[in-house]
Amino acid sequence: MAVANKPRYVDVSNPSLAVHCPNCGLITPRFLEYCVNDGYQLWPSPEVVSAAFKAWRDADPSRALVSRYDLELPRPPAEAEIDYSERAHQLGIHIFPNSNYPFIICIGFLFLGLAAIPFSATTRIALLVIGGLIFLYGVVGWVLVEDVQLYESSSGESSPEVHH
Ligand SMILES: [Zn+2]
Repeated sequence: MAVANKPRYVDVSNPSLAVHCPNCGLITPRFLEYCVNDGYQLWPSPEVVSAAFKAWRDADPSRALVSRYDLELPRPPAEAEIDYSERAHQLGIHIFPNSNYPFIICIGFLFLGLAAIPFSATTRIALLVIGGLIFLYGVVGWVLVEDVQLYESSSGESSPEVHH
């Protein structure tokens, strides 16, 4: 067992996880002791191949999570954060701006709903006016003010063929 702690020379600069088996010629994981296709012994012992794999893996931090059973390096994780506003703008999709105005619109609805309850006529008209004003304020602020501001701020960088 003299060779056990002295790994066979492994080219750590080669990033490949797969090799062509010298016996069958098919692709097999580079750091398994036996070829997965025909069982041909690629490495002299489990200790040797384990040491060789560790030496190869430790040579590059990006190999830290690699399995000996893989045939290629894992892809870097996909970018999880997407700027949906930017994406929608590229696709020409209109989305309403992030806003607190919808809450105001809902409060307007609350008063309009209260106005539907058969109180005295004066109370109902007062509720109707209050609810209508709050509702209109929310709609105007959201649709006419914030949305137009968003449109103007983004139209400057949009491509000219949008304006036919
Ligand atoms: Zn083979």
